[in-house]
Amino acid sequence: MTRLSTPARADAEALDRDDTLRGLRERFDLPAGVRYFDGNSLGALPASVAPAVATAVSDQWGTGLVRSWNDPWIDLPARAAGKIARLIGADGNDVAVTDSVSVNLFKLLSAALRLRPGRDVIVVDGGEFPTDLYVAQGLCEGPNALARLRRLDDGADWAASLAKMDDVAVFCVSHASYRTGALADMQALTAAAHAAGALVLWDLSHTAGAIEVDLAGCDVDFAVGCGYKYLNGGPGAPAFLYVAPRWQAEAWNPIQGWLGHADFFAFEGTYRPAPDVSRFHCGTWPILSMTALDAALDAFDRVEMAALRSKALALGDLFLQCIEPLRVAHDLEVITPVDHRRRGGMIALRHVEGYAVMQALIDRGIVGDFRPPDIMRFGLAPLYQRYVDAWDAAATLAEVLTTRAWDTPAYQSRQRVT
Ligand SMILES: *Cc1c(COP(=O)(O)O)cnc(C)c1O
Repeated sequence: MTRLSTPARADAEALDRDDTLRGLRERFDLPAGVRYFDGNSLGALPASVAPAVATAVSDQWGTGLVRSWNDPWIDLPARAAGKIARLIGADGNDVAVTDSVSVNLFKLLSAALRLRPGRDVIVVDGGEFPTDLYVAQGLCEGPNALARLRRLDDGADWAASLAKMDDVAVFCVSHASYRTGALADMQALTAAAHAAGALVLWDLSHTAGAIEVDLAGCDVDFAVGCGYKYLNGGPGAPAFLYVAPRWQAEAWNPIQGWLGHADFFAFEGTYRPAPDVSRFHCGTWPILSMTALDAALDAFDRVEMAALRSKALALGDLFLQCIEPLRVAHDLEVITPVDHRRRGGMIALRHVEGYAVMQALIDRGIVGDFRPPDIMRFGLAPLYQRYVDAWDAAATLAEVLTTRAWDTPAYQSRQRVT
């Protein structure tokens, strides 16, 4: 940070006036009085969603009834996959929109293990998102264990660790950390995993829709990602998965459901996997959620990820400049890398009273979230955020810290969802 003085609100207003993406905010229904910084947990509601879901309920379900399966429901997952593919550097034919991230992790880790006979280790960082760790643990426990789990120490040098191993089947890693917002080097780590003879499964939950991703260009084997975060698909939206073309004919889906069959309406008695990525479907798609996600993805229509990324970095820079005076005065630690090449889609701050401070912020209309033990997360969502929102968030944080507004029992008692 080379800037000498803290930016004024007028500086933020000027940035908004010059922002070529500012019109995209109109693609969202945002509540008055809220500055939303939790798109990294639950994306805001795109204006296109409510009419699409209403049509799916009344016209397609109510009137069309079962006829709506042929038009439009049967094509819905592929349509949504095509829209997501553009955002992650993939071809639509290599992406399936289906199930949750957790279930997709199970399917793809199992597939990767089978593709690497003679190797039985799954490597996951110890600080990885819990579901990634839990699913890997599940595959490595009990009488039917398929593999052994090797956790890397939180913060280890992943490439160096992989280089010392010769038994790894698959390395499962988040593109951006859910806690710190640090971005991993997809190109270098994929190459490091391959050099060690392993496959790699990237979790894009914190980057799809936030950051330019180039799965094909980085030679990635597998990826999963979340529909309800930066993609704004709504609570519990279907997730997606990616399988590199070179693995599609071989990769085994351990949940052999009827919609993954090569000819699911032939009702054959024996499972025959679809020849392509659609073998990773299992059961019937949640059409209402899928409709919401498909409509939500239109918020990205004609938007370049590079432009979104630049704005997200600028929003983060402004926020960091504004909170700079608070760091020393209030023991606030910025744990997200400031370096643009290593920064993910959010800014994470540590403070001993992080939970209470965040509750005070939420009460004042600045909605971020909290992760234990002491991390406040501020998600950056350039589709709908303005520079004044970042400025207001920093100013409100300054007010809460300097007046100790957080220091009241109402802000200390923990809710179930933080
Ligand atoms: C949000 C998130 C998930 C979500 O998993 P679901 O099963 O879809 O709820 C998984 N992994 C990471 C890294 C996440 O951030």
